[in-house]
Amino acid sequence: MLAPAVTSYASRHSARLVSLLRDKGIRDARVLSAMEYIPRERFMPPAVQDRAWDDMALPIGRGQTISQPYIVALMTESLALTDRDKVLEIGTGSGYQSAILSKICRRVYSIERHKPLLDQAEILFRQLHLRNITAMCADGMLGWPRINGVDQAPFDKIIVTAGAQDKPPQSLFDQLKIGGVMVVPVGPLADQILKKYVKLSDDTWLVSDICPVRFVPLLPDVAAETGDSA
Ligand code: SAH
Repeated sequence: MLAPAVTSYASRHSARLVSLLRDKGIRDARVLSAMEYIPRERFMPPAVQDRAWDDMALPIGRGQTISQPYIVALMTESLALTDRDKVLEIGTGSGYQSAILSKICRRVYSIERHKPLLDQAEILFRQLHLRNITAMCADGMLGWPRINGVDQAPFDKIIVTAGAQDKPPQSLFDQLKIGGVMVVPVGPLADQILKKYVKLSDDTWLVSDICPVRFVPLLPDVAAETGDSA
């Protein structure tokens, strides 16, 4: 069982958020307790921390956002995680979604294309003792690379927290186990749908729509070090 190590101020706010998530239909007790336990305010700049426990997306710099808690909970619940699962996440961003996953599954591999965001997220993973997250700066559209001859693929589950323009990258399909689940926003910015893919065989999929969403776009390549957007 998770023992919340949060201040009473944060615990009041986290309890309120959890009851709102329950009202919105989140049922998985492991997801709700991870959302209660992980201090969301730590994953955002001081200027927006007073809104950390509101159910809204917030800016985290570099033109990127930390997702709305309800969407984090919904995506996590849709993955139907077990404590044996190895999960690939594309779009580490603030690291908040990775932290939630890390409380429920065995291991999280997360890829971010903005190095400064990744560095900040890795500091938080260490401070919060989230030791089962491995993160790297790369183009997540290519999947998790072979490193020193070692493959981490295939993964039990894949979560993409940026919007794919018309369909998820083929390399992510390839890196999912048969029977595995991938959740990913698909479509142009104003018309994205969160989709769930279940891999039935190497070339057959069960696809279902979860709900309309609004994520920053999934972009190719590692981002240039300068500039504050895309
Ligand atoms: N999961 C994050 C949400 C971050 S927003 C959180 O909980 O805070 C989406 C992130 O996806 C952004 O940080 C963006 O830089 C990243 N991203 C977009 N395209 C990417 C790609 N091809 N590879 C890796 N990261 C990508």
